[in-house]
Parts: sequence; C-alpha cells; structure tokens
Amino acid sequence: MAKIKAEYVWMDGHKPTEKLRSKTKIIDKKVTTVEDLPIWGFDGSSTMQAEGNSSDCMLRPVYFIPDPVRGADHIIVLCEVFNADGSVHETNTRARLRELTEKYKDHEPLFGIEQEYTLFRGIKPLGWPDNGFPAPQGGYYCGVGSDEVFGRPLVEAHLEACLEAGLEVSGINAEVMPAQWEFQVGPLGALEVADHTWLARWLLYRIGEDFNISATLHPKPVSGDWNGAGAHCNFSTKAMREEGGIKVIEEACKKLGKKHSEHMAVYGAHNEERMTGLHETCRYDEFRYGVSDRGASIRIPMLTAKAGKGYLEDRRPAANMDPNLVCAKLIETVCGD
Ligand code: ADP
Ligand code: MN
Ligand code: MN
Ligand code: MN
Repeated sequence: MAKIKAEYVWMDGHKPTEKLRSKTKIIDKKVTTVEDLPIWGFDGSSTMQAEGNSSDCMLRPVYFIPDPVRGADHIIVLCEVFNADGSVHETNTRARLRELTEKYKDHEPLFGIEQEYTLFRGIKPLGWPDNGFPAPQGGYYCGVGSDEVFGRPLVEAHLEACLEAGLEVSGINAEVMPAQWEFQVGPLGALEVADHTWLARWLLYRIGEDFNISATLHPKPVSGDWNGAGAHCNFSTKAMREEGGIKVIEEACKKLGKKHSEHMAVYGAHNEERMTGLHETCRYDEFRYGVSDRGASIRIPMLTAKAGKGYLEDRRPAANMDPNLVCAKLIETVCGD
C-alpha cells in the first residue's frame, strides 16, 4: 500500500496568542477513523509548551480531513496536546469545550464563525502602495476589479481547498479594508465549528506560502481609519430556533451583558485596538445589544427579529480568538443558569 503523509497540526503555547504548528508522520496503514491514527510526541520546549529538562508533549489525533494540498490520499490531522503523564496540557483549550459540549448537548447549540483576516506581502498589506496609503475605505467591501481587490487567487485557492477537504465553509467576501477578507464556517456544533475553523486557518497559511503571501489574524493590522479584523460568532440554541425563540435570544443577551468582561478576556489579544466604537464595533468596555445594529456588541439579525426566532451575532470576538474558548464561554453563559 502506498504510504500516507499525515500532517499533525496543533496549537502551541505562544502568548498572548497561540500559533499553529505541524509536522508530518508517515503512516503505512489505511486510515478510516481517527482511532486508526497513532498518538505522537513533540518537543514542547520549542513551542513554549514545556521546560527543556522535561520537554515531551503528546499529540492525540481528534479529527482529520483529506489533504487538499498534497492530494486526497494524504491527510491533515488536528490534535489535542497532553502532558507526558496523560493529563490535559494547559494549552489544550479543546478538552474543556469537549466537556461543555457533552454537558449542554440537550441545548443543541449551533455556531457560525465569520473569520476575517488580512493578507500581507512582506511588511505591507497586499497591494498597498510602497509609499502612502490606498484610497480611503468605501469601495472595497465585496468589491471587484484589480484596483480594489487584492489577493483573490489565494482566496479562491483556499476556498477550493476547504471545500475539497470537507470543511463547512459557507461563504467568503472581500472586506472593508483593502487586502482584508472573510470566510464563514458553519452553522455547526461547537467542536465541529472550532475544528473546522482551526484547520481552515492552517490551510490559509499553508496555501499562502505558495503565493508568497502571509495572512494575519491581528485585530488591528493597520492603525488609523481602517477597519480591524474580527471573528463574529453567530450562535443559537434549539430554543432560539423554535417558535418564540426571540424571547430566549433576549434573555441570552441579558446574561451576556452581565458577563461582558469575562467574555472579553477570552475574545482575543489586542481587541481593544479594534473595538474603539468606530468601524462597525462597540467600544471594548461597553455592552449593548440591538436589532440590526452593527455598532452593538450583540446584533440580532433583522431576519431573526422578523421571524421571531433564529440566532444572535456576537460581534466582539477578534479575528485572532481561539474558537474553543469563545464557543465554551458562549455555551457556559447562555446555557448555564
Ligand atoms: P454578516 O451579515 O454578519 O456578514 P455572514 O453571512 O457573514 O453575516 O455570516 C452569518 C453566519 O451565521 C454564518 O457563518 C452562518 O453559518 C451563521 N448562522 C446562520 N444561521 C445560524 C444559526 N441558526 N445559528 C448559528 N449560526 C448561524
Ligand atoms: Mn460576514
Ligand atoms: Mn465581516
Ligand atoms: Mn457579521
């Protein structure tokens, strides 16, 4: 049998924002379920996950997809990190989401993440002039034409790769700042949306290598009068999606208001640079919700208000948030008492 290249992907211990790491394992047996994949190790002292004198960390495969880059015979494997003694590593944010998903499964939570990101070549956003700035924002969002849109070949290649890999990407669009883009993942359950978002991010960085373009999730990649990059998290429970759900959505908004700072603490580093109250954000230290309000912390979409049921959009998470933490916090606050 031909050998399989399995790219093991995990989140490292980089602070304040974790980065993705990966390495390749050659596998000589057929892989049909995640249990067929061997546990593996890595040197945690090189990833800010261990001290040098006892540096072995363990990678446990939890989800895999066909590899659209190397070809569908090969796979990309998302892993959770454990300590050598088998306990959950402190950087393993997925373990806790696993527990919460199980605990609140009767609520049937669904999530849709809008992942914004900014393309760079070298130290400049892609397509920006060497000196000065592009024309002010206004024509770039969902734009078309080489004077307004930068990086489409990479964006298209990434979309194609995600779909080929079976990731539930539900759409893409060019964003308000030139060289800024968005892909949407979901709606899916919490673990699925987080796993798919992490792997879609990995694919974006990996395919970017072939275009000599890097993608950043920094929430405010260019200071000044340019939109930041967020990761709006759309959220619903079964009760919100059913008749009379709007009442449940309003209750959820009230609960979220009481836990605003706890949420902000896990919604991404440097988010206060983005959440200025301008550029379609609410100030980072304020909380409010409203129908159709893109300056609110939580927006209730127009169609949800009209239908009297649906979902809410938490607009606070920054592009560099960890979906494991954000989904966990939303479940905990909204589904808990
Ligand atoms: P926006 O108008 O904010 O740009 P998008 O179309 O980019 O909205 O994203 C909307 C997101 O909402 C998608 O990711 C979609 O998967 C998600 N979504 C739709 N319905 C639900 C639902 N019932 N529960 C949770 N998320 C949902
Ligand atoms: Mn969007
Ligand atoms: Mn957007
Ligand atoms: Mn949105």
